[in-house]
Amino acid sequence: MSGLAIGSAVGRSGEKVAGFIPVPDAADPGCAIPVTVVTGAKDGPVLALVAGTHGSEPSPIVALQRVRAELDPGELAGTVIIVQIANVPSFQQRTIYRGPWDQKNLNRVYPGKPDGTTSERIAHAITTQVIDQCTHLLDMHSGDGNEALRPYSYWNHLGVDERVDATAREMALAFGIDHIVIDRGRPRDRNASLYCSNTAHVRGKPAVTTEAGAVGVPTEDMVALNVRGAFRVMRHLGMLAGPRELVEHPCWIEPHVVLTSPAMGLWYPAVRPDQQVAQGAALGRLTDYFGETIAEVTAPLAGVVLYVVASPAMGKGEPVGMVGAISAESPRPT
Ligand SMILES: [Zn+2]
Repeated sequence: MSGLAIGSAVGRSGEKVAGFIPVPDAADPGCAIPVTVVTGAKDGPVLALVAGTHGSEPSPIVALQRVRAELDPGELAGTVIIVQIANVPSFQQRTIYRGPWDQKNLNRVYPGKPDGTTSERIAHAITTQVIDQCTHLLDMHSGDGNEALRPYSYWNHLGVDERVDATAREMALAFGIDHIVIDRGRPRDRNASLYCSNTAHVRGKPAVTTEAGAVGVPTEDMVALNVRGAFRVMRHLGMLAGPRELVEHPCWIEPHVVLTSPAMGLWYPAVRPDQQVAQGAALGRLTDYFGETIAEVTAPLAGVVLYVVASPAMGKGEPVGMVGAISAESPRPT
């Protein structure tokens, strides 16, 4: 099959080709996004694997280096686009949440703008080069540099196209993480899709956001989980031979709440990821610079701690953690 051109990477049948998606300089600096195009000998889906939307989430970044090394184009049906590090400035400058030049969260500015700030131009480049050319997408995150996390993924139940929702649900089950957050609140506007995976989803391409890894350190178990998940999704989509596996006993989570800090100060978490908490339970407290407690954050609902900030620095309005209620049922798309 003929190869896709993703930036300077022009795929060739049966080969892995590396290149860069250029993001030109403008009012703030540009960058070059490293990408690999793996082109199978046979036709099939075009799966985009995106790591490093947040630069201090290295488990998926390291995992995609391993996927690149292990994936044999001779056995592949279709094409895998590997975005090795989407947010190069955030990675290089070691920032959490936001890009270093514009202080914007790449995963809140999609579909981006060709003449915007650095994060907006990166989003635009990924939308036009990667999302517009793929058929399916995984946006692979972890806890950010300051976040302890238990693995989970998001099923985007957008409610626009039943086929897209149903396929995304199966992709989440195929990836292999048993905790799956049902998210019905993502924007349906193609021009304000905000998130990488939602940008694919509103364009009719089933997509899943995964979260595996934590606190800026790529542990072997989390790297392996990400590698295994990517290959499981390829097998599920029929791109590789082998068994199609779905999580047998998913733990669906709905609703979920991201708690934010009421003040600037030092954060003392009182819970661990994966801990079950009752409604009203203390998640942690904030002190001033001298150690006097100035606020406490409690769980507004009973559920499981999906992530919690593990380090002290805390700004007003910043996330401190996320709690999700475990749903009794495993709902199906309607
Ligand atoms: Zn992230």
